[in-house]
Amino acid sequence: MIQLRRELYQWHQTIDRDLPWKEDENPYKIWLSEVILQQTRVEQGKPYYYKFMDRWPTIEDLARANEDEVLSLWQGLGYYSRGRNLLKTAQQVVNEHNGQFPNEEKAIKLLKGIGDYTAAAILSFAFDLPYAVIDGNVKRVISRWFDIDTPIDSKLGLAQITQSLQQIFDIEKPAKFNQAIMDFGATQCTPKPKCETCPLKQHCKAYQNNTAEFLPIKSKKTVKKSRYFHYLFIQDGHNCVINRRGENDIWSGLHELPLIESELLNEIDIQNKVNSILTNTKLDSIAMNISNGKHILTHQNIFYQIHEVNLGKLNSDSLLIPYILYNPKEDQPLYGFPQLLKNFFLSLE
Ligand code: SF4
Repeated sequence: MIQLRRELYQWHQTIDRDLPWKEDENPYKIWLSEVILQQTRVEQGKPYYYKFMDRWPTIEDLARANEDEVLSLWQGLGYYSRGRNLLKTAQQVVNEHNGQFPNEEKAIKLLKGIGDYTAAAILSFAFDLPYAVIDGNVKRVISRWFDIDTPIDSKLGLAQITQSLQQIFDIEKPAKFNQAIMDFGATQCTPKPKCETCPLKQHCKAYQNNTAEFLPIKSKKTVKKSRYFHYLFIQDGHNCVINRRGENDIWSGLHELPLIESELLNEIDIQNKVNSILTNTKLDSIAMNISNGKHILTHQNIFYQIHEVNLGKLNSDSLLIPYILYNPKEDQPLYGFPQLLKNFFLSLE
């Protein structure tokens, strides 16, 4: 096992991953990057990391932000509850810990949105404490090195992964070990493994048993729900109408165009919906389905259409609660939108 670790470190020296959040051991940077990297890969995550660091260089700066601003920068990453938790966690660290991340497992897990994975990442990378990070990459690597065919999304599978990982974990250099094995999973032992060029194949039981490409095993298949969204682009050439989404659903807290959700895409009453948004309204024209598509989320497929409703002049006095006016060309940074609407607004430019 020591030989495996040594060769893992030798391999790690040969790759050069530019991870800006690892330039120092600042827990704020490490936490922020880990939350972003739960949503996307390193290369796609970097621009988000830079945007957040430019806008809020310290945790105190982030704690003072408002939720709309945070969601606006977060948009495109999905799982918006994680974006909202960023703000809550920053406020907790500032208000309850004087702006210093706790370096103790129990205290760190009391922070909003911080579970086992993020806690282990902060404790090891920022404080070099002996916590093994177990993300999807690590699970894949361990399941192959030890040829574990128990589903990794089962309790037993996770226990076997954890136990096997402990056999090779480097308690003296936890940060170095965690980074090396995560990078190994991200670049070498990828979902389609690069076994022929792998410097660790002599330690890999799955390679020896020809099972690498079948591992890891997952038991649960996600059944996706289909939803049908009709958005109304009620506009007067300058402004359009938007509202904030409620809680307990996808994209909660983000803004959107007025929405009619239906069982299928062809059953809507636009006039009725407009009457619930504006008072004394005379519609100039309606253009059905000016844009449509399918937006894929982890557990849902969203089939959407956008219908244009033209009015001579929109006036905020005629809007009913909770609707507000929005100028897509001027107000962009102020509000967070689901990616499909962000793309729609960009298409108007
Ligand atoms: S031999 Fe293949 S499966 Fe085994 S560690 Fe290397 S890349 Fe992964």
